[in-house]
Amino acid sequence: QCINRCPTGAITEKSEIRPVLDAINDPTKTVVFQMAPSIRVAVAEEFGFKPGEKILKNEIATALRKLGSNVFVLDTNFSADLTIIEEGHELIERLYRNVTGKKLLGDDHMPIELPMLTSCCPGWIMFMEKNYPDMLNHLSTCKSPQGMLGALIKGYWAKNIKKMDPKDIVSVSIMPCTAKKAEKERPQLRGDEGYKDVDYILTTRELAKMLKQSNIDLGKMEPTPFDKVMSEGTGAAVIFGVTGGVMEAALRTAYEVITGREVPFKNLNIEAVRGMDGIREAGIKLENVLDKYKAFEGVTVKVAIAHGPNNARKVMDIIKRAKDSGKPAPWHFVEVMACPGGCIGGGGQPKPTNLEIRQARTKLTFKEDMDLPLRKSHDNPEIKAIYETYLKEPLGHNSHHYLHTTYSSQKVRDMNLYNPNEAAGLDEI
Ligand code: SF4
Repeated sequence: QCINRCPTGAITEKSEIRPVLDAINDPTKTVVFQMAPSIRVAVAEEFGFKPGEKILKNEIATALRKLGSNVFVLDTNFSADLTIIEEGHELIERLYRNVTGKKLLGDDHMPIELPMLTSCCPGWIMFMEKNYPDMLNHLSTCKSPQGMLGALIKGYWAKNIKKMDPKDIVSVSIMPCTAKKAEKERPQLRGDEGYKDVDYILTTRELAKMLKQSNIDLGKMEPTPFDKVMSEGTGAAVIFGVTGGVMEAALRTAYEVITGREVPFKNLNIEAVRGMDGIREAGIKLENVLDKYKAFEGVTVKVAIAHGPNNARKVMDIIKRAKDSGKPAPWHFVEVMACPGGCIGGGGQPKPTNLEIRQARTKLTFKEDMDLPLRKSHDNPEIKAIYETYLKEPLGHNSHHYLHTTYSSQKVRDMNLYNPNEAAGLDEI
């Protein structure tokens, strides 16, 4: 069972290249790819570039379309931005209900425990479900970006945009880790008619292997645009790939929602949450807030970032001790990523990965953020459009249906979900 779950890639993943190629060669199917933020800064290493040397992004769209005419390529950066809108408002709502006892958004029964913990890393979610099953209400109810986009691809893109039957869609995620392969099997990630939101996962290494098998040199591809819609992403989405990035992206949006102003840091860069220290803390004071949020005037929002299982455990033990003794935890919002450095150091990324390589990928990630014209999730025009036309409001009815999830103790989870026979069929990538 570890095989599908190992976030660091210590155990090699089962390859899903064959079923993906079979789907592309099946004329009755439409294959829709999505690609995580951290892929673009690492995949070039598989094609002869040095770590941190080159971003390959739209080149991947070109390469995937060369495999078949029934291929669409969307971008998980869109749903990373969507995650920030939902998670940022969830944080604000939890804070507001704790401070005032009243609600602004969401349903009456949403969890309001603080600190709120990020939920975009499946390795971290498994860690929580196994080790801290009595504290699952601290996890944000937001699905991961891949979970959100998977649900929207079959539930919204196929039905509402393309007028297609979701059963004819094969949804493939290109992801940095093997934990994502386990995530797609979660019963919570299934559509209305019982189909899986995501059918197959290719790690970065599997993507490279699949392209090489087809004699496609990714480094020589011309860039072409992703398909519409759900493919626009901001710099805030790009930085999801590094430790502290989700926190920084969330603060850029939450601070502006509460105060009406941009975060007070040069170039929007929140240096205090960046870096490779295992646990980092920061605080941001809310002053001159909008009338709607006057209950927050003068409050300092305290945050922490941890990466790697040992640091996750240290942070959780601090929160648990505070909770058990009836005291508030030292933070309001905590980001945890299972892999050292975040997804740029995920187990499905090009090998080798060491501190120097993680730092090179991180540097390239922040460069990409700086180079993009839009760097705040709430400025993404496709995000604005989907709320106007479909989702209506964060934490609303449609958001709840497609974008939020639940968690359960591993001890009571149906372990048959992880088929040991399937797991036995290993491929070296
Ligand atoms: Fe996967 Fe990223 Fe979590 Fe590592 S940090 S387990 S790569 S989602």
